[in-house]
Amino acid sequence: MMDPANAVDLPADAGYVVVGAGAVGCAVAAALIESGRSDVLVLDANPDIAQGTTSMGAGMFGLLRTDKDRVAHDVEGLEVIRELERGGDVGPGWEQTGSFRLASSNDGAEGLRRLREIARSEGVTAELVAPSEVGSAWKLLDVSRFRLALFVPEDGQLRPHLLADALRHRAMQGGAMFAQNTRVTGINTGADGAVRAVETDRGTVVTQCMVNAAGACAAGIARMAGLELPIVPVRHSYFVTAPLATVSGSLPHLRFTEEGLYARVRDRGVMVGGWERPGEGVALDPRDMRPGALVGFPEIPRNAYGAFVEGLEGAMPDLPRWPRQAYASGWPTFTPDGQHIVGESRRVPGLLMAAGCNAHGIAGAPALGRLVVESLQGRQKPYLDRLNPDRFSVGFSWGDAITSARGHSETYNVLTVQAA
Ligand SMILES: Cc1cc2nc3c(=O)[nH]c(=O)nc-3n(C[C@H](O)[C@H](O)[C@H](O)COP(=O)(O)OP(=O)(O)OC[C@H]3O[C@@H](n4cnc5c(N)ncnc54)[C@H](O)[C@@H]3O)c2cc1C
Repeated sequence: MMDPANAVDLPADAGYVVVGAGAVGCAVAAALIESGRSDVLVLDANPDIAQGTTSMGAGMFGLLRTDKDRVAHDVEGLEVIRELERGGDVGPGWEQTGSFRLASSNDGAEGLRRLREIARSEGVTAELVAPSEVGSAWKLLDVSRFRLALFVPEDGQLRPHLLADALRHRAMQGGAMFAQNTRVTGINTGADGAVRAVETDRGTVVTQCMVNAAGACAAGIARMAGLELPIVPVRHSYFVTAPLATVSGSLPHLRFTEEGLYARVRDRGVMVGGWERPGEGVALDPRDMRPGALVGFPEIPRNAYGAFVEGLEGAMPDLPRWPRQAYASGWPTFTPDGQHIVGESRRVPGLLMAAGCNAHGIAGAPALGRLVVESLQGRQKPYLDRLNPDRFSVGFSWGDAITSARGHSETYNVLTVQAA
């Protein structure tokens, strides 16, 4: 009798094998199908898609970035998200809420002006507004400490698992196959170092093209082919308060520049999230992770939550008294230079990376999928050269890589003039 957990037979070979069915792997599969390819197999160790870091995502989508290429990336991703919402049988739950980024210092205000210029240069609407405008929308916020705010009307939110589902649906309609409960255990390479097959706990799949979209496990998967890449999982968390009488419907997201924190409405409660305080980031060392083993989730980070409440003490004075209804904590990955790792390594032909999402792997997933496909084509945009895995081939120190990756996470929302 067939084992119900192994209901889908693995094919003996596939044109493209994608490892990981989180937001990124599903986006890669959808983009491969969109490009006219059909022989696509997605493998994931979990029983269903989007059960890794994607399941923890806050679902926020923001077009403000310190890097023009990243803004252009998100503009493209937003088009895909809107198109999925309009046209697909399964939508990502997209809701355009707008966002406010608030600054309380002179440096912070200058940083907002720089961000506005970068956004505008890529055609994104971004308007400087008085903090009182933020207070009119967010009644529970005390805005007296803030100097300036930046409003982006096109920002919004989606449901991370629905985004993955919408992309999976699209990929499957075009012939892609998804095999869950299938753990990748090894990669076979030929004498020339190129990928020949992917080993799993359910058998071998012969392929010449494998995409590594394994999220927090991506460094371990790359190592299976002899490729050492600094993809560092760093803890990130949020909590959601119980419904509040003063909150109804959606409101623009809030990002607090100096505090490195964010807030949004979820189910009439307030989600508050962010990173650890500078110098207190918690990272995993990929050298300690067994290749092929899954990374679990962090325990509820009570200290980090305490720091969030302290950080917002002036802006949301009642936050400590609001009961909490949900918590999330996961291991998004960071790289030492804060950029994704995308495309094929010359050292292992046939191994393509789609990892190192720098906490941008949900909002960034649709465009990331397209970048992977573009990397398969001859002509590439310069942005892709910057993301290529071989930028780390000269070698790196794991100690420095972990420190830099943690540093990027701690300053993720802290956009000062220097950072811009
Ligand atoms: C609290 C929190 C809030 C966040 N908020 C946002 C947000 O608002 N917006 C945003 O854009 N990003 C956000 N992020 C970051 C975002 O969640 C990640 O960047 C994104 O989910 C990464 O997706 P992924 O597909 O690369 O990884 P994952 O979702 O982890 O998928 C990787 C998959 O690979 C599979 N896998 C691993 N090893 C193997 C193996 N050996 N064999 C087979 N399968 C394997 C796993 O089972 C998993 O399903 C947040 C993260 C956290 C923790």
